[in-house]
Amino acid sequence: MERTFVMVKPDGVQRGLVGDIVSRFERKGFKLVGGKFITISQELAEKHYGEHKDKPFFGELVDFITSGPVFAMVWEGENVISAVRTMMGATNPADAAPGTIRGDYGQTVAMNIVHGSDSKESAAREIKLFFAEDELI
Ligand code: ATP
Ligand code: MG
Repeated sequence: MERTFVMVKPDGVQRGLVGDIVSRFERKGFKLVGGKFITISQELAEKHYGEHKDKPFFGELVDFITSGPVFAMVWEGENVISAVRTMMGATNPADAAPGTIRGDYGQTVAMNIVHGSDSKESAAREIKLFFAEDELI
């Protein structure tokens, strides 16, 4: 069964949105197979967002994602990778549809509440980066 990596970013944790976000994916029928709070190190942030290292916002992105605890998760289900992306909404909350997580709660592109892997390859890479085998059920 397909798996994906999802995290509630520091702004979402700070605003008390972990329960709502977990609940949305549970109600959709996906299975939570791992979850933990972590404070991301500079090194892990640079690895996780490595594809963006040449972008002008990279420094800001790393500073933000390391600024406080995140809630990291692995979700399992049919087509879960693309379904989570759809449920998150567009990267910029200003463009995200109502009913999506970013559409309902986000305000700025830098602080957009949630991350979800964008492909099978990213999902495999990110799950490995954040979780040990024995942390997943
Ligand atoms: P994520 O990878 O966090 O799930 P995403 O896949 O929707 O988001 P990406 O293109 O991978 O979007 O960008 C990674 C993150 O970088 C975005 O979530 C956003 O917080 C930040 N970002 C993207 N574009 C900008 C920008 N123009 N200015 C500031 N931050 C940006
Ligand atoms: Mg991305």
